[in-house]
Amino acid sequence: MKEIRSKKDLEIVLSKLKGFEKPEINSEQYVTPSSIAAEVIWKAYFNEDVKNKKIADLGAGTGILGIGCLIMGAKDVFFIESDRKAMEICKENVARMKSEDSKLGGAFFYVEDVTEFNEPVNTVIMNPPFGTQKKHADREFLMKAFSVSNVVYSFHKTATEKYITNLALRNGFIKSESFMFDFMLKNTMRHHEKSKEFIKVSCLIFRKA
Ligand code: SAH
Repeated sequence: MKEIRSKKDLEIVLSKLKGFEKPEINSEQYVTPSSIAAEVIWKAYFNEDVKNKKIADLGAGTGILGIGCLIMGAKDVFFIESDRKAMEICKENVARMKSEDSKLGGAFFYVEDVTEFNEPVNTVIMNPPFGTQKKHADREFLMKAFSVSNVVYSFHKTATEKYITNLALRNGFIKSESFMFDFMLKNTMRHHEKSKEFIKVSCLIFRKA
């Protein structure tokens, strides 16, 4: 792999990863756009939450967030994903990255529900379901993240930011930063009538108080 010298270099590598073959509506499967994944991982790197750290990617899907962390020097990354098919693609993506860079850290793949994961880590990075299909899906992810880590990077619909920030506070976590993005939901999910739809999504960073 070419040396990563900029956020753009990271984005280019991430843009070449394989995505979902048939996204599942009920699990709200979609890949975080590579530009947004690169932006957040770049930020996390300079916050010293990535290099030499143990990281969990909850609801890893095809792995873009965890793989970005491996590329930026994470010690170990745990990929947690309940969908076997998505995990196969995630493994394929990681194997390809490892074949290009033998110095990448450890990758561990757990096909399980997020509630079953119990490994303490330094940082959680996740783009969980927003709970539009399964109510409170995002809450389950957050509660797990707060129980295994002191630092959590998590994507949510901007409309729910206040609710999520309060939930964090009640669990002893303070929002230290937030970044807003426009996510384009392509018409990969049948229930979206318009061919293109944008929603405001924020990546929130929480730290244990
Ligand atoms: N993090 C990836 C995928 C986001 S889509 C990315 O940023 O590209 C959300 C993922 O969470 C999907 O792959 C879905 O299968 C997974 N998921 C949904 N509910 C889950 C649960 N209860 N436990 C584990 N994974 C779950």
